[in-house]
Formats: sequence, C-alpha cells, structure tokens
Amino acid sequence: MKGIKGRVAIITGASAGIGRGIARIFAQEGAKIVAASRNIEAGERLVREVQDAGGDAIFVAADISRKLDNEKVAAAALERFGRIDILVHNAGIFWEVMLDDMTEDDWDRCHNLNLKGTLFSTQAVLPAMKRQGHGRILVTSSITGPKTGMPGFAHYGASKGGVNGFVRNAAVELAPHGITVNAVEPGNILTEGLADLGENYLATMTKAIPLGKLGSPEDIAYAMAFLASDEAGWITGQTLTVDGGQTLPEG
Ligand code: NAP
Repeated sequence: MKGIKGRVAIITGASAGIGRGIARIFAQEGAKIVAASRNIEAGERLVREVQDAGGDAIFVAADISRKLDNEKVAAAALERFGRIDILVHNAGIFWEVMLDDMTEDDWDRCHNLNLKGTLFSTQAVLPAMKRQGHGRILVTSSITGPKTGMPGFAHYGASKGGVNGFVRNAAVELAPHGITVNAVEPGNILTEGLADLGENYLATMTKAIPLGKLGSPEDIAYAMAFLASDEAGWITGQTLTVDGGQTLPEG
C-alpha cells in the first residue's frame, strides 16, 4: 500500500492524547505533519520527537474553536509544504456536568471546539484541497453520543452526534472535488483527558470492554492512517467505531 507516504497532514489537538498518537504514527508512515493546538511547549516537544525519529513536522499554536486560527494553521501548512492532503480535526474537550448544573457556557465551550471547530478547520483546508482535486478530511468523533449515553455528558454527546451529521453531509458535498470525509468513533482511550475522569471511571470502563483493556492513541491512529490513505479513496461519509468491542454486548 502507498498509504500516506509523502502526504501533508494537519492534525488538530496534537499536543496530547489521541492527537499526539496520530501525529507520531502518521510521521512514522511517512506523512509531513502540521500539528496544531494551544500548548506551545508540548507542541514543540512533539515536533522534536518526530524530527528525532527522522520525520518532518511543524507546530502552529492555535485555538481551533476560532476561525482565524484555523486559517493561520492552513496558511502555515501551505507556506512550509505547499499543499494540504489530510486534515484530522481531533481537538476536543469532554468533562462531566449534570443537566441541572449545565450552563450555557458549558454548552458553548464544548460545541465551539468539538462541532464548530469541525466546520472552521474544514473551511480552512478546502481551497487547497479543491485546487488539488484531492483531500482526506477526518474527524475524531466518539461512541458517546452517536452510539452510547452517559450521565453528565449530554453536551458532549450532542457535539459528537453533530459531528457525525456533518461528516455525512460534507462527504456528499465534497465528493465531486475528490475529497473524502470520514470519522473515527473511539471508545475509551487512555489519554490525559480520559485520566482526568478518575480511577473509578477507568476501572468501570475497562470492565465493559470485551478485549479487556482501554485503547491506546495508536489504536485510533492506525484506523485514521487507513482512512487517510490513497487506498481508502472510495470510502466516504462513514464512521468507524474503534472501541475494543465495548458497544457490542447485548446483555
Ligand atoms: P486530551 O488528552 O485532553 O487532549 C486534547 C487535545 O486537544 C490536546 O492536544 C489539547 O491541546 C487540544 N485542545 C483542547 N482544546 C483546544 C483548543 N481550543 N484548540 C486547540 N487544541 C485544543 O483528549 P483526548 O482524550 O486525546 O481526546 C482527543 C479527541 O478524541 C477529542 O475530540 C475527544 O472528544 C475524542 N475522544 C476521546 C476519547 C477518549 O477515550 N480519550 C474517546 C472518544 C473520543 P492544548 O491544550 O495544547 O490546546
């Protein structure tokens, strides 16, 4: 397989967790990385790691919930590498807040990044992808919302359900331009963000996973690398669940 060798990939939320895993694996598979998130120190550390392993990467400090910052990321990618083949909109936030306590600010913060960020990051790469007649847009969705539900996550579940709707409609709109749009729905992946939900949460989730362990960022990265590959060119508008079987059991 040609895979993603030589392709230029923007990865949002790349300073930690799943996004950092995607950046490492994409670089290992030969892609040139444009990593975007807010924490400059963590972003630059990732770039050094990729370069030390023989890869090519730049970091752009950006708040992905802001339209202008997404445009800045796309401009930096074009300036350095001359094209944009892949966008992985992965930056996202999740925390527990029950409906009685949920404020408008909770709702807006979650949706501004998880859902509106999907639109802004996509809009930023479209001119280049349309010019090229080629593009792969990928979004990190979630099982929470599209497939499962949990107390305290209505704001988050709604944002990820929205993401899946975005993917299907954008896929149809962008197909004539040779651009595919797909999502991966991770189950419980051991990241900094998931660890913040506490030991109790991690233990309960681990018990619910037929494959017997929490996922790793690399588990998501390999699925993303396939969907971003040249060989996945006839797959669009789809969501791929990667969850160790968590959403399967009937009982
Ligand atoms: P994480 O460990 O908390 O990392 C989140 C990443 O997003 C960090 O790189 C963070 O970097 C970045 N980020 C947060 N706010 C941002 C903003 N406004 N602008 C730009 N970057 C921002 O989270 P994770 O567990 O890796 O989750 C990553 C994605 O996977 C999210 O979309 C999440 O919903 C989804 N997901 C995770 C799981 C899981 O089990 N972990 C399951 C399903 C779906 P900075 O702080 O440097 O900006």
